[in-house]
Amino acid sequence: MNGVEIPVRAERLSGTSPLVVAMDGPSGTGKSSVSRRLATRLGARYLDTGAMYRVATLRVLRAGIELTDSAAIAAAVKELPLRIGTDPRRELIELDGVDVSAEIRGDAVTKAVSAVSAVPEVRELLVDLQREIALVAQRIVVEGRDIGTVVLPDADAKIYLTASAEARAHRRNQQNIAEGRGDDYAAVLADVQRRDTLDSTRKVSPLRPAADAVLVDTSEMNMDEVIDELYRVVAQQVSAGEGRS
Ligand code: C5P
Repeated sequence: MNGVEIPVRAERLSGTSPLVVAMDGPSGTGKSSVSRRLATRLGARYLDTGAMYRVATLRVLRAGIELTDSAAIAAAVKELPLRIGTDPRRELIELDGVDVSAEIRGDAVTKAVSAVSAVPEVRELLVDLQREIALVAQRIVVEGRDIGTVVLPDADAKIYLTASAEARAHRRNQQNIAEGRGDDYAAVLADVQRRDTLDSTRKVSPLRPAADAVLVDTSEMNMDEVIDELYRVVAQQVSAGEGRS
């Protein structure tokens, strides 16, 4: 590194040209907050794919379907009247025209979402929608579990955010306390570990880093440090990609 900016790269990072960033990793790494902030810094749109699986799960729960009944789950989400915004500064998630942004973060959905998202038809439907949204947006940070591996394998930059299970459980527990949902570190840690196992061992799109993703461990970093590191990693990957093309 000699500190000389490559003009094309600078334009890609601060301009309006297409730029797709795939951001994957397990829950509790601060992925959503940092993805929103990174998108804002890049002047890009933002897509929270986890929220889409959560909306599908809410619909399944409302329909009273057993989580073991894959066929009924697939049928219930076939027509999913979902609306999701891509403004990184403003969350917009609606089911049937009603804001469900709070409800999809509740306990019931959080417990059921791994089962619903393991149903192949659910993934097919939502992956198609995610690709369409990314195509329309052009300049976007897409956050999830399988973005770099399955949804957008040709993304300009791929990041896999990690943190130890303990660090992730600690953050989530702090968030629960701040939002009045109680203080139970042991239960939160058990839930983090349970979801990690479910997400990484499922047959369809298991959670794993793409071969060309850059791993960023956030265990010991604060939010500002993470954003700076991600910006640096995106710059590096974009210029490496331009070198190849
Ligand atoms: O990111 P978030 O924790 O809201 O995601 C909720 C759940 O949705 C995850 O635990 C995972 O089961 C599922 N998910 C997925 N693929 C994605 C995003 C989320 O399977 N791309």
